[in-house]
Amino acid sequence: MPRGRKKKYVRPKLDCSCFYCGKEVEYPYIHISLRRPDYSDIKVVASAGTTVLNRDLPNATTSYYCDTTCHKEQMGQL
Ligand SMILES: [Zn+2]
Repeated sequence: MPRGRKKKYVRPKLDCSCFYCGKEVEYPYIHISLRRPDYSDIKVVASAGTTVLNRDLPNATTSYYCDTTCHKEQMGQL
C-alpha cells in the first residue's frame, strides 16, 4: 500500500528578477493584480507613472518579487 504522503505545494522554478529590487530569483513570490475594466485612464496614469491608455493594459498584471517583504516595499512606493 502506498503511503499517504501529503503533497506539499512546490512553487514552480522560474528564472526572473524581482520587480522591486531587480535581484534575480528562481522561486519568486508571484503577485497578480487584477484591474477593474472600468479603471479610469487617470487612475492608471497615476498608479503606473506612465501614460498608458487603459485599453492598452491587460486585465491582469503579474509581478515577481523575492518575497513578501519586497512586495510590501513596492506597495509602499505607490
Ligand atoms: Zn526583491
